[in-house]
This record gives sequence, C-alpha cells and structure tokens, in this order.
Amino acid sequence: MNGRRKFLKLSALTTGLFAFEKGRAGQLIETLAKPAIKPIVISTWRFGVEANEAAWQILRKNGKALDAVEAGVKVPEGDPKERSVGLGGRPDRDGRVTLDACIMDENMNIGSVACIEHIVHPISVARAVMEKTPHVMLVGEGALEFAIAQGFKKENLLTPESEAEWKEWLIESKYQPKVNIENHDTIGMVALDMNGNLSGACTTSGMAFKMHGRVGDSPIIGAGLYVDNEVGAATATGHGEEVIRIAGCHTVVELMRQGYPPELACKKATERIINSAKKRNKSLSEIQIGFIAINKKGEHGAYCLQKGFNYAVYSPEIPNKLMDAKSIIK
Ligand code: ASP
Repeated sequence: MNGRRKFLKLSALTTGLFAFEKGRAGQLIETLAKPAIKPIVISTWRFGVEANEAAWQILRKNGKALDAVEAGVKVPEGDPKERSVGLGGRPDRDGRVTLDACIMDENMNIGSVACIEHIVHPISVARAVMEKTPHVMLVGEGALEFAIAQGFKKENLLTPESEAEWKEWLIESKYQPKVNIENHDTIGMVALDMNGNLSGACTTSGMAFKMHGRVGDSPIIGAGLYVDNEVGAATATGHGEEVIRIAGCHTVVELMRQGYPPELACKKATERIINSAKKRNKSLSEIQIGFIAINKKGEHGAYCLQKGFNYAVYSPEIPNKLMDAKSIIK
C-alpha cells in the first residue's frame, strides 16, 4: 500500500468514513464511505412539518436528538386543533381522553406512559419516567400521580370540539377506526443529531372511541418506536393492534441491521403486517399502517399499507418537506 493510500485508509478508519463495497465480481472493495447526512429529523403525518421545525431549532445548534424529538412532538401535543394527540385528543368511548407516549435515546434508555389522563405533554412524563425512576413504563392513575408529583399541571384535555364529536358518536356508539381519516394518528419522530446520535419519540391519544384502558403500539418500545444507535431508528402510526403483533419498529430496525435501506426495511415490516392479517382473515381494507425510519448514515424512508400516509423530512438536503410514503396497496 503506498503512502497516500495508507494515509487515506488510516484517516478514514479513525473518522469512521471507511467502508467496503461489493465489486462486480462480488469481491470486497475498500471505499471511502459518504459522510452521514446530519442532522436529520423525520416525523409522521402533516403535523410533522411544524413539529420538525421545533426539533430543527435544537438540532441545528448542535443540540441532542433526545431534546429535539421531545420538543418536536410537544408541538402537536399542545395544539388543541390537532385532534389525535395531547390536548384536544379524541376521547375513548366513555368520553375520557387517555394518552400514550414513549421516548428512547442513544443509550437504550427508555421511558413510557400509557392511558394517562389530564396531562398535556405525556412525552415529557415519559422522559421523566426514563430519567427519574427505576422503571420504564407507568400507566393510568400511577402515571398521573407520578406526573403531578413531578410538577406537571392537571388539566382538562376534552375540548368542546372533542366533546361534541364524542356526543355525536354516542348516538350510534360503533367503534370503527377509519383508514387515513384523522380519528386517530400519532406523531412519531426520529432524529440523528450532529454528533451522530439517534433518538425517538412517539405520542398519541390512540384510536378514537376505544374501550377505556385500551393501549396501542405508541407507548410500547419495539412496537411504536425503536432506536438502536448502532443501526437506526423507526416509528409507526396506524392500527396499533397490528403493529404490536409484529413488534413493528424493532422489526424495521433489525431489517436495517441486516443491510436493508430504511424504505425497504419499512416495506418488509409492512408485508409482515399483511401476512399477520391474512392469517387471521382480517380484511386489509380495514387497516392502515405507516412506518418511517432513518439509519446511521442519515438516510430516510417510509412505507405504508394503504395509499395516503405522508411524513415530514428535515435535513441539510431537504428543508422540511412533506413526502408521500409508497404504499403496498396502490
Ligand atoms: N398507533 C396509534 C394507536 O394504535 C394510532 C395511530 O397512529 O393512528 O393507538
């Protein structure tokens, strides 16, 4: 190896920019890998654009991905006009707004709350569970008691709009989640910061008019969210019962570990959802699932079951754009 080549190899190794690629004949060729696209933040649905904006303000100043994802998802949580998250979220069939949220950082720290009432920012309670308790998940009354002890304010989350809609629903009282119509929807956000660390957050009021006590995928680490700092991060939206069944986001991350780029990993996980539904003779037309993911290189991707799912991307290359995810059912 000549001197210049040796130098390149050494500096690439020390900066983590060294990679191997398969040549035409299948041989391994040493290459200089592209530097990662950093920072990057992606999040689910239309409200992801505004949420990304808040996250970006932290990421662009060299802030931590963990702080960025928390700040990002707090935007729709605090907005009463966003009717599937936080304040003004749609209630359960008893007229109670119960929220689910979880958070995960680059060191496998996790925190989660499920079926918590009266707190506008369940994501911050999830973070407090992660940072201030020996546990990873608190539910219902216990989660609320903990939140109040931590100084969170107890509030009424049932806005007049949500209450009116619930009263109308009571007339027929039929539980029927709709595909792509916002009577559910979750904000899930994953980010890679300038230091190359990944984190994620996920928060929702879950399926509208669910049974009291129902918990979906969103507060369940491995289902609604998963982060592995060596590989990538993924989050999900849609019918939580289906996502839990296949440990959705853990599956996406494991597929990325096997070398699949984010979009393909999300597609493969969506195919598993289909296989699981087929086994149970569940009609696919009743289900929507969307996965979004990023990897350590800052590449992003998404996939969904039915057409109509979109996600927001903010990176040095993409200045906060809403993108349509590809779907299995066209
Ligand atoms: N995944 C959420 C849940 O099942 C709802 C959604 O994202 O649409 O609670």
